[in-house]
Amino acid sequence: MNTDYEASWLTVRLGAVTANYKTFQSLAAPAAVAGVVKADAYGLGAAMVAPRLAAAGCGTFFVARLEEGIALRPLLPTARIFVFDGAAPEAVPALIAHRLTPVLNSLNEIAHWSRCATGRRLDAALHIDTGMNRLGLSPAELSDLAASWRKRLAGLDLALVLSHLASSDDPKSRQNRDQLSRFRTALAMLPPAPASLAPSGGILLGKEFLFDLVRPGIGLYGGHPQPGTGPNPMQTAAVLSGRILQLRRIDKGESVGYAATFRAKRPSMLATVALGYADGVRRSLSNRGMAAVAGRRVKIVGRVSMDMVSVDVSAIAKTRIKTGDAVEFIGDTVTLDDVAETAGTNAYEILTGLGRRLPRRYREGA
Ligand SMILES: *Cc1c(COP(=O)(O)O)cnc(C)c1O
Repeated sequence: MNTDYEASWLTVRLGAVTANYKTFQSLAAPAAVAGVVKADAYGLGAAMVAPRLAAAGCGTFFVARLEEGIALRPLLPTARIFVFDGAAPEAVPALIAHRLTPVLNSLNEIAHWSRCATGRRLDAALHIDTGMNRLGLSPAELSDLAASWRKRLAGLDLALVLSHLASSDDPKSRQNRDQLSRFRTALAMLPPAPASLAPSGGILLGKEFLFDLVRPGIGLYGGHPQPGTGPNPMQTAAVLSGRILQLRRIDKGESVGYAATFRAKRPSMLATVALGYADGVRRSLSNRGMAAVAGRRVKIVGRVSMDMVSVDVSAIAKTRIKTGDAVEFIGDTVTLDDVAETAGTNAYEILTGLGRRLPRRYREGA
């Protein structure tokens, strides 16, 4: 059906996602590259993105929640799907039924999963905490496991030992090397298994961080793996656009939007665009953020409201702009990382905060 009536939408460039996947493959080789598709592939739509990655050669996926893994299984019948949340007792039957591999985060989880492996073998990943202090085996738990791993891992096949870097977006952080050395120590205490440490940022930290498998998320979706460190090696994969609902001329001294937080210093031309904070245009971008129209950067003026936002298009020639034209709030001109910085957050929160009502339009090419 024709959906030209849509007033705002998110264009997902599937070709860019696979190009970013290939970029990581060439950076990480010979390590394998998994796809982190938690939170609906960071808002882009896991049901479309994950099969694309699989077609590009990705055989390993990570989700956070069990439900996310259950939803993906029919779309990825032969892939390995790891679930970061682990194996709470209530989760075990569904993990087994959907052939999902839990990332075990504590000795308790290991014990329970191992008990479930009586009469059959089960795959497992182990998460070693090397300094994040969020999930994973603590140093004390790791020592206990190392002292009796044959017994504690009975019935289990170790598919992966992983840890997570807390500061991989900052190549200058000393924490990266600290965590690397703790991870190496942990691996030496455990039976041999494939190992994984690096998210997107970690892939750029150097060969020692790659191990057997890398786990990028944000870079696949176009975010800079290390914002502020030079040009982004990733291609733009998510473009947020809204149509101009009205063009209106205002006089000097007139105000715009809720609470009149913007007052025109000169006669101005405004475009009222069909995107608001319900779509993921942060209210914190009020009077600060930028957009792109007719290839030029324009300013957001006044408060971002739920369904609308105003931009000052005074500098755009009349012949180059009309009602119904699309204005880009995230894309090649105003990038995801630009928006995140202006909004005082990161690219992850911007992407995962894109509104549910925004239609996703999938494009093949980059
Ligand atoms: C989210 C996540 C990743 C992916 O991180 P990016 O920074 O998006 O590449 C990798 N590993 C773990 C444990 C995660 O939670």
